[in-house]
Amino acid sequence: MAAMPNSSAQQILHDIFGYSSFRDEQQAIVEHVATGGDALVLMPTGGGKSLCYQIPSLLRRGVGIVVSPLIALMQDQVDALRQLGVRAAFYNSSLSAEAAREVFIALVRGELDMLYVAPERLLLANFLNTLEQVQDGPGLALFAIDEAHCVSQWGHDFRPEYRALTVLHERFPEVPRIALTATADAPTRREIVERLNLENARQFVSSFDRPNIRYRVTHKANARQQLQAFLEAEHPDDAGIVYCLSRKKVEETAAWLKEKGWDALPYHAGLAAATRNANQKRFLREEGVIMVATVAFGMGIDKPNVRFVAHLDLPKSMEGYYQETGRAGRDGLPANAWMTYGLGDVVSMRQMLDSGDAPEERKRVERQKLDALLGFCESTACRHQTLLRYFGEEHPGACAQCDNCLEPVDTWEATEAARMALSCVYRTGQRFGVVHLIDVLLGKANAKVEQFNHQQLSTFGIGQSLNQAQWSSVFRQLVAGGLLEADMETYGGLRLTEDARPVLRGEQDVWLRRDAEPAKRKVSKAER
Ligand code: ADP
Repeated sequence: MAAMPNSSAQQILHDIFGYSSFRDEQQAIVEHVATGGDALVLMPTGGGKSLCYQIPSLLRRGVGIVVSPLIALMQDQVDALRQLGVRAAFYNSSLSAEAAREVFIALVRGELDMLYVAPERLLLANFLNTLEQVQDGPGLALFAIDEAHCVSQWGHDFRPEYRALTVLHERFPEVPRIALTATADAPTRREIVERLNLENARQFVSSFDRPNIRYRVTHKANARQQLQAFLEAEHPDDAGIVYCLSRKKVEETAAWLKEKGWDALPYHAGLAAATRNANQKRFLREEGVIMVATVAFGMGIDKPNVRFVAHLDLPKSMEGYYQETGRAGRDGLPANAWMTYGLGDVVSMRQMLDSGDAPEERKRVERQKLDALLGFCESTACRHQTLLRYFGEEHPGACAQCDNCLEPVDTWEATEAARMALSCVYRTGQRFGVVHLIDVLLGKANAKVEQFNHQQLSTFGIGQSLNQAQWSSVFRQLVAGGLLEADMETYGGLRLTEDARPVLRGEQDVWLRRDAEPAKRKVSKAER
C-alpha cells in the first residue's frame, strides 16, 4: 500500500484498522501530525497511542520512522501491520546482515510505509545518511519517538541513546515529530520537551483516570487468607493477575492457589520460555485463569476482561502500581485493584533499594518513588484523586470507587503513642525489630527482653493501652511516614530518622489512620 494522501484519517481508521471511531484525543493528534505539526502525546497504556503515528504515516508522503526501545515487540507490531496490508518493516540488532540490507533497499526505493527502528541503530551514521537519501527521494512522513520518557534520567527506563535523538530535529527540521509516553508526571514531561527540543510541539494530555477500577489497600494480617477471602467473595470465576515480588513467592502462591482449587498459573522470567509462553497463552485464551506473576508479566498483554489485579507485595512506585493495576478492566467494565501490605513489605522494599548497587543518586530517586507509593497506601483520601494527582491531573475526589470513599477511614490523635514508640526505639539502642519493640511496650518479660535487661527500661510496659495489632499499625505508619527506618546492618532493626525529632521533642502532633480489622474468611461447612 502506498501513502494515501487522498484518503481521510477516518477512512484509514475504518478501512485499514477496522475501527469505527477515534478514541478521545486520537483524531486531534492524527490531524495535527498529518498536517506537519510536532506533538507530545501523553496517554495511558492501552489508550491507543500507536494509531496516533500509524495513521499520519499513511496519510503523508513517504515512510514513517518509528523509534522504539522495545525490540522484543517490534516483530509483533510489524506482523500485525502487515496483516492489515501496511508495508512495515523493522531494523534492529536481531536482523541478519542480509535482512538489514533488504530493509535499506526497500527504504530507499520508497517501498515502506513504516519502519520501526531501535534507537542505537537509528543513530548510526550510515542509517542517518540513508535517511537523507530517502528524504530527497520517496520522502520521510514523520518521526515517531515511542516511550519518550526513556530520555529521562529519573525514570526507570533511561536510555542514553534517546538523548541523541535531537539529531533528528537538527538534520531533518522539516519532518514532523511525535513523541509518545504513558509516563506523565510533570518533571518527566518537562524533561522530554527539553531533551527532545519539543518546545514548539503541541501537547496532548489524555486523562489517566480509570473510573471503572475500584482501588483498595488492605493491611496485611494473613495475606493468603485475605487473598482467598477476596477471591471467594468477589471473583470466584474471573481472570485476574496476582503480583508477587519474588520468583519463589510466585511459585509458592500459584501452587497454593491451585491446591485450593483455583485455576492458577505461575509466570516469571526464571521459567523456561516454553512454560512461560504456554501459561501466557492459557491466560489470554481461556476464561477464568489466574496468573500469579512477577512484574515480568504484563508488558504488551492486551486482555480486555482481566477482572482483578491483586498485589501480595508492594509495587516499586506509583508508576508501577498504575501500570500493573491498569491491566484490569480494559473493557471498561467494573474491575478491582486490590493490595495487601504491611510493615514487613516496607522494610524489605527499603532494604532492597539500599542494598542494590545502583549509584547513590539513583537510589535517592527510587526511595522518593517508594515514599510516594507508601504515602498513597497510608492516605485516607480518595485513591483516584491521590493517584491522578501524582500524575499531575486534577480529580474532584469522592469517587465512590475506592476503599477510602466507600468506607471513610477514621484517624486518631496518635502523638502520645508515636512518642512512646519512638522513645522505645531509642532506649533499646535503635537495633531491634518491631516484634521485640512491641513486647517491650506491652511489658512482656520474655527471654529476649530479659537477655537485654529491657524490663528495666522506662518504656517497659508503658504501652498497654494499645494492643499488639494497634502497635503494629503505629510502627508501620511511622516507618511509611519516614520517622523510623529499617537498618540493614541489624537485619531490619528500626532506628530514628531526623523527622522523628520534632515528635520526640513534643513540637509536632501525629495523626494516624485507624486500621480496619482485616476481613475474615467465611469458613464453609465442609472446611469446619
Ligand atoms: P498504547 O500504545 O497506548 O498502549 P495501543 O496503541 O497498543 O495502546 O492500543 C491499545 C489497544 O486499543 C489496541 O488493541 C488497539 O487496537 C485498540 N485501539 C486503539 N485505538 C482504537 C480505536 N479508536 N477504536 C478501537 N480500538 C482501538
